[in-house]
Amino acid sequence: DMMEARMAVLMALIIREAGKSCANAVGEVREAVDFLRYYAAQVERSFTNETHRPLGCVVCISPWNFPLAIFTGQVAAALAAGNAVLAKPAEETPLIAAKAVAMLLEAGVPHGVLHLLPGPGASVGHALVKDRRANGVMFTGSTEVARLIQRELAARTNPDGKPVPLVAETGGQNALVADSSALPEQVVGDVLQSAFDSAGQRCSALRVLCLQDDIADEVLARLNEALTELSLGRPDELATDVGPVISAEAMKTIAGYIDAMRAAGHAVTQLPVPDGCAHGTFVPPTVIEINAVAELSGEVFGPVLHVLRFRRDRLERLIDEINGTGYALTFGLHTRIDETIERVTRRIAAGNVYVNRNIIGAVVGVQPFGGHGLSGTGPKAGGPLYLHRLLSAVSDPPFAGAGRQVASAARLWLDRLTASGSRAVAICDEIIRMSPLGMVQELPGPVGERNRYLLRPRGDVLCVAVTPFGLEVQISAALATGNRAIVDGSSPLSVLHALPVELAEHISMARSRAHVRFDAVLLEGDGDVQRQLAGELAARPGPIVVMQAIASDALAEGRERYRLEWLLKERSISINTAAAGGNASLMSIG
Ligand code: NAD
Repeated sequence: DMMEARMAVLMALIIREAGKSCANAVGEVREAVDFLRYYAAQVERSFTNETHRPLGCVVCISPWNFPLAIFTGQVAAALAAGNAVLAKPAEETPLIAAKAVAMLLEAGVPHGVLHLLPGPGASVGHALVKDRRANGVMFTGSTEVARLIQRELAARTNPDGKPVPLVAETGGQNALVADSSALPEQVVGDVLQSAFDSAGQRCSALRVLCLQDDIADEVLARLNEALTELSLGRPDELATDVGPVISAEAMKTIAGYIDAMRAAGHAVTQLPVPDGCAHGTFVPPTVIEINAVAELSGEVFGPVLHVLRFRRDRLERLIDEINGTGYALTFGLHTRIDETIERVTRRIAAGNVYVNRNIIGAVVGVQPFGGHGLSGTGPKAGGPLYLHRLLSAVSDPPFAGAGRQVASAARLWLDRLTASGSRAVAICDEIIRMSPLGMVQELPGPVGERNRYLLRPRGDVLCVAVTPFGLEVQISAALATGNRAIVDGSSPLSVLHALPVELAEHISMARSRAHVRFDAVLLEGDGDVQRQLAGELAARPGPIVVMQAIASDALAEGRERYRLEWLLKERSISINTAAAGGNASLMSIG
């Protein structure tokens, strides 16, 4: 309530410090308020001190690009889950963070429970992450820094012997695909917002527009025309659409990239810089044509949109190439063909998928936000699982049995255990019944928009066990959540003896895990074993892989269970159901 009442003060700071437009500054305050209300409502409804135990002290490290919303979101979640918080804002935006903390304290958050620690990442951020008293880290920022933090945390465990949780939300290489059934003027409007709002400095921003070649010339001509309508200028003027980028260094990096692409022979369309912008850190909206997804290097964090043409019969290959970047944050699709929506949304890996609308501005509780792979570890911010990652123990796991879908491989595995007279039958049966596999929720949203939230298998789960019982439980957890189990060569392999072919598809063995790809890890063990494996995982290139570890005795006595929800990927799909306009017959073009 206080933030809403003092909107003007907060807006002024956001505009001054982060160079955000007035409309974006309003959006920031609204989102910060949404996070506060959403997490508060969640704990009021379902958390108690007996059933939900906090981690202890949580470090929150946030970026400059949502200096109020993401900063407040992290802090609100950590506090709501019952933790004390050390909050380190980005060095570029300490004032708005200081204001937010002052307001939270004024509103009643106990002194001593929330501290602001502004300063550089390499010194203050690093010291916080390294400190043994930090029991969890929430990080939003670049993929590179997330990897550094993972390496640091791998060297220690929490007082309860568990890995220190890291929630990392990182960058994207976000694409939007428009086929020839899409409405060109709608594509152009949504592309302009997605690529250039906030001067492209959103992690969700559109980086590569993929146009079916039949419509590419027309859409591109309209896009270049519409580009000239964007007004570049001071963010405190209401007429401004695109403000400056965050710093002179960022401007130099982005301009250098554009020059290199131009020099390499790519067609580049760029707005001129207006006279009034000569002395600021402005990068004009820029469109660069490319021939293949592989020509993209890392994330270019500014108002730069790549455009690519594709042939309709190569749509599947294109989706695979987008997945092949390793990022999986946001994705957009413009089409009038239901079958294409089904096919493409099934295949694309992105965590947030948008159909026939723009791909930015996820709303808390409506489009829970976050990606997979190089884009982050999950859980999604503003979603139902976020607070659960900030707890050390929960007796009532979320969505238990909510999916009511039993993977056939899990059923076969249970039959096998039963036939062999295994001690693990009862617990494996329960794991299968508790699995949230197949869970789908419709989330509330505005009229004309359908928002779905669902859980999908992560892919391959590495099982590292020391006892046959431990391995049987791990395989049950992997299969019950629709994943494949990859059994590490160090585990008791007698468990896999004479696997029937139907199961062999779902369970494989890796002699050396160093050369195998996997998406999650289940470990039986603690202490040194855990730290050693965590160190190994942190040294691997590619995405941050989350590990769950339980000691043999805790597993055997049923005192602890692997958390099934962490073996699933969350996905949000937002569909503009009003997009087809007045001509319903267009929906049936096949
Ligand atoms: P950044 O990684 O440079 O900095 C983020 C934070 O980490 C800052 O507070 C910084 O001080 C701190 N930091 C830097 N080095 C550190 C270290 N060694 N130890 C501990 N902390 C350290 O990112 P940025 O430039 O501030 O933000 C832009 C990036 O954030 C982009 O890649 C963008 O995609 C990403 N982002 C992602 C999301 C998401 O939800 N997925 C949201 C916003 C931004």
